[in-house]
Amino acid sequence: MKKIIYLDNAATTRTAPEVVDAMLPYFTENYGNPSSVYELAGASKEAVAQSRETIANILGATSKEIYFTGSGTEADNWALVATYEAYKEKGNHIITTKMEHHAVLHACEYLEKMRGAKVTYLDVDENGIVKLDELEKAITPDTILISIMYANNEIGTIQPIREIGMIAREHGILFHTDAVQAFGQLPIQVDADNIDMLSSSAHKINGPKGIGFLYIRKGVKIRSFIHGGAQERKRRAGTENVAGIVGYGCAARRAADSMEARTKKERELRDHMIRRIMKEIPYARLNGDPVKRLPNNVNVSLQFIEGESLLIMLDMEGICASSGSACTSGSLDPSHVLLAIGLPHEIAHGSLRFTLGEDTTKEDLDYVVDKLKGIVEHLRSMSPLYEDFIKKGKK
Ligand SMILES: *Cc1c(COP(=O)(O)O)cnc(C)c1O
Repeated sequence: MKKIIYLDNAATTRTAPEVVDAMLPYFTENYGNPSSVYELAGASKEAVAQSRETIANILGATSKEIYFTGSGTEADNWALVATYEAYKEKGNHIITTKMEHHAVLHACEYLEKMRGAKVTYLDVDENGIVKLDELEKAITPDTILISIMYANNEIGTIQPIREIGMIAREHGILFHTDAVQAFGQLPIQVDADNIDMLSSSAHKINGPKGIGFLYIRKGVKIRSFIHGGAQERKRRAGTENVAGIVGYGCAARRAADSMEARTKKERELRDHMIRRIMKEIPYARLNGDPVKRLPNNVNVSLQFIEGESLLIMLDMEGICASSGSACTSGSLDPSHVLLAIGLPHEIAHGSLRFTLGEDTTKEDLDYVVDKLKGIVEHLRSMSPLYEDFIKKGKK
């Protein structure tokens, strides 16, 4: 089989073998419904409680503040929609940014179109960082919620979360953060970081797909989002995804235990890759903040080329990466995140994201940069834009 170099860990990760091992008994032996009363069900109930405890401990929260969901997307939707419903008597204004994940942006658009919400989408600076003075200025007496992501999934920029949380707190406004890319990568503490609600998802940290959680600080009024049984303290109905929750607990524990050493290694590898690309490929640009950046994120624009063509050619070499276009939706619109940091369309189109994983090696990255150099040269040699540019340059 062809060797695959997987550098799309912001899209999803490989489920770690020990996570799979931890999950298996909850399909085969301990298959009881946690809500049932007999002994068989006790094992499932206990396992769910343990995972909840593990995750709460990592965040400095209590178990009662962790609510399992079916995904990070669901957690984001829940935080926005249900908070809006619970607090709309107080006001109808929400503040977020232009570079959030679609799970937040589209939930906001829904609230605007269908529920009468007013939403401010803050600009960010050229590295993708929220401007705190603009955040303060956007606050009105009607503001009930600020939702700003902990770290961006495309360009890796890490926000000044503690300061944002402080501003929210000083104004008596709730603060939600989408921490799907940050949980397990950065040492998050909900109290010190002034966070009221936080979304996360297991499959981004070597856990299984289809399981997430929403942290909701004690005292925050939040309505249930999925209606039915009494699961998740009557806030999120539906029989628990027991195996998924067990896998999440295991993945979260692993990520927390290995965080320091793993992210140190990833930062070194990340910077090695960035240095090589910037040095060896002309007309390359690093997107996102060079320092306030997720340990595993490399996002570059390579002028005069289409990101989609790059992806296809990388794929032929067994390299999995992602581009700056919303190709998943079938359109070729450039990424809203790259536009938010001010890139012109044509540069945003030539963007690539590589996201390292826990198994990524320096050899992998050197192989990728070597291949990338050749591919870029080849594509530019066929690019009319590049030809024009060179001709003009020579005049
Ligand atoms: C992946 C991701 C999500 C969505 O999580 P799912 O569990 O895949 O629904 C939300 N926000 C960010 C920042 C993400 O990276």
